[in-house]
Amino acid sequence: MKIADNKVVQMHYQLTDEKGVVIDSSAGREPLSYLHGAGNIIVGLEKQMTGKQAGDKVQAVVTPAEGYGERDENLLQVVPKSGFQGDEELKVGMQVQVGTQQGSAIASVAKIEGEEVTLDMNHPLAGATLNFDIEVVDVRDATPEELEHGHVHGPGGHQH
Ligand code: ZN
Repeated sequence: MKIADNKVVQMHYQLTDEKGVVIDSSAGREPLSYLHGAGNIIVGLEKQMTGKQAGDKVQAVVTPAEGYGERDENLLQVVPKSGFQGDEELKVGMQVQVGTQQGSAIASVAKIEGEEVTLDMNHPLAGATLNFDIEVVDVRDATPEELEHGHVHGPGGHQH
């Protein structure tokens, strides 16, 4: 069975950045399951999975435009240091939770200068070219319930 819209795909994956550093991997875990065509995974990877079948190995290179987007300098925000409470001392690279109009989001501390803190709201993988090493484990038809929910149920998927 080939991967197409409305198929449930099980796969092992390893994600590395341009320098070959492993960012994420399913090694030692259950394979990841996703519903093809439902936007469960990034668009650039989904496209390259189409037509593959169980046993296939896929090497997919995903550009920022089809991955987590380009970095957006407008997503850098300077805020007063006094806005941060808590015991932990602020450090560059630290992840903090911030309130936005769309609810809370994760930002990383890009710079600390005197009483000013620059927060970076870009996705940590924004601007990165992503290299996926995939092994397709299984391809099956989605159940009507999975199609209705837009995600996979059972092993590797939602348990509800
Ligand atoms: Zn569901």
